Amino acid sequence: MKKNIPARANTLPEHLPQYLLRLSAAALGAAVLLSGCGGSGNGLSAKDAAQIVYRNGDILTLDKDNTVVQAIGIKDGKIIASGSSATVDALVGPDTKVVDLKGKSLIPGFYDAHSHFVYTGTNARFETDLNSPPIGQVRSIDDMVALLQKKQAELGKDAWITGFGYDDTLLAERRHPTREDLDRVSTTQPVYVTHISGHMAVANSFALAKAGINASSTDPEGGMIGRDKQGQPDGFLAETAQGLVGNLKPGLTAAQVQEGIQAAAQIYASHGVTTANDGASSAGGIQAMEAAAQGGRLPLRVVAWPTALQGMEAAKKVELKSGMVKIGGIKDFYDGSIQGYTGYLSEPYHTPHDGDAHYRGYPRTSKANLIANVEAAHKAGYQLFIHTNGDQAISDVLEAYAKAQQASPRADARHTLIHAQMAREDQLDEMKKLGVIPSFFELHTYYWGDRHRDIFLGPDRGARISPAQSARQRGLPFTLHADTPVVPMDPLLMVWAAVNRVTTGGSVLGADQRISPTDALRALTINAAHQNFEEKERGSIEVGKHADLVVLSDNPTKVDPMKIRNIEVLQTIVGGKQVYAKPGQ
Ligand SMILES: [Zn+2]
Ligand SMILES: [Zn+2]
Repeated sequence: MKKNIPARANTLPEHLPQYLLRLSAAALGAAVLLSGCGGSGNGLSAKDAAQIVYRNGDILTLDKDNTVVQAIGIKDGKIIASGSSATVDALVGPDTKVVDLKGKSLIPGFYDAHSHFVYTGTNARFETDLNSPPIGQVRSIDDMVALLQKKQAELGKDAWITGFGYDDTLLAERRHPTREDLDRVSTTQPVYVTHISGHMAVANSFALAKAGINASSTDPEGGMIGRDKQGQPDGFLAETAQGLVGNLKPGLTAAQVQEGIQAAAQIYASHGVTTANDGASSAGGIQAMEAAAQGGRLPLRVVAWPTALQGMEAAKKVELKSGMVKIGGIKDFYDGSIQGYTGYLSEPYHTPHDGDAHYRGYPRTSKANLIANVEAAHKAGYQLFIHTNGDQAISDVLEAYAKAQQASPRADARHTLIHAQMAREDQLDEMKKLGVIPSFFELHTYYWGDRHRDIFLGPDRGARISPAQSARQRGLPFTLHADTPVVPMDPLLMVWAAVNRVTTGGSVLGADQRISPTDALRALTINAAHQNFEEKERGSIEVGKHADLVVLSDNPTKVDPMKIRNIEVLQTIVGGKQVYAKPGQ
């Protein structure tokens, strides 16, 4: 339950001198007028006063009782008081900056449970966005080709022409492009486009030839080379086969990566994110973020998850001194994507794939490999974040987590299932038992819900993807994520999706899995901080925590639930410093 508490006896830090505590008690009964800096006339010296006070708003602390307060005080980047405006006014000194929220809402900064920070920025900056509405503008393969031709004209004849985010199920042709389609962009330079799921790609004839892919090529383990009726490669590359071409793509220059980081920081901060995730981080990416931070060009915090034990060992060699970049656990993958028919299901897909009524998708590696990798990483003391969409993938990874715990027991390991899209009730029970956290890609309900129901999973399985309410009822500290750049970073759209479960087609998908706005906000703040072992430092507005905050135009717990997505981020604050303000604010 949400509580409105006008004043709390314990809102002031215990180490404050007694006279201050008395002062605050006195101030409770007094009407104090404030404008701009200081003005309370309480004789506080700058040393004892708050540097910044936010007052006169709906401040959703998201502490364990979901307390709502009217004011907070900040000093040296940390929250030093929270309570009624009168209580916090006691900390206003001559130099205190007093911000009147004028009834707007202040909440903890959004803590990104999973995305790809660096990749989001470099993608936005250097690749062609091939998304279809409502994300982008591509409605047909002709549209896609036209955008790539434009990029080709821009980058010249030596460049790789790349695009991301195309979705075959949203194209007029209802199919993936082929190498012939992409040959219309160029036959003398590589053209390579990736599917919105990130689990498949298409290359033109030039790129296939460059990779040595021809009719006699065999599929790599955990991947598939698409072929036409004559057995010739048709350009389509699924899962590990993507690397055959993708790995030939020249890397970005250091300067380009820095440009990407700036672009990502702008995107995240403007959506209220104060801690970003860089999933599947490379050591180079971590080094680049640290360089940006040391140069004062990284305004928000980033938690990086290197891929596999090997990636972790390389990443740990990067010296991190800025305090803004931190290495969390290990990110890994087990299956693919349901909308790409590569999610690994326990029962066949609703609409058979290529006419195969038994087809259930597949894992990227054998179960034996999975178990060995999980056991090794767990034994080495790491936390694991494994990509799982299909329910068979979830079963296998849960089994691997259980085996790893049996072999080397470790309390509070917080191993996580990233996406956990088809988590069944019995699997949620198992997560509870094992202390495993589900992190849901909630926006699947909005962006793919109609197609999951009608094409991939059918009505029953479709209705209970991202089962947040079932997780909540078990007391699982679930989180929500957008997996950006898979879909755009937009925490308020995630809250809206979890609260309403409305699809792009306008129907409600699994009404019984809807959760309250407060629970959705918790999943995007304190639960996400907990997922990364940071719940003592951030994720809620409590005395002693970092002042990572967002000012919103409206209170998500009070507006019409369907209007939550229209709430604007007015200001983003990291460690007490404003890192974003909506233009005109
Ligand atoms: Zn994933
Ligand atoms: Zn991801």
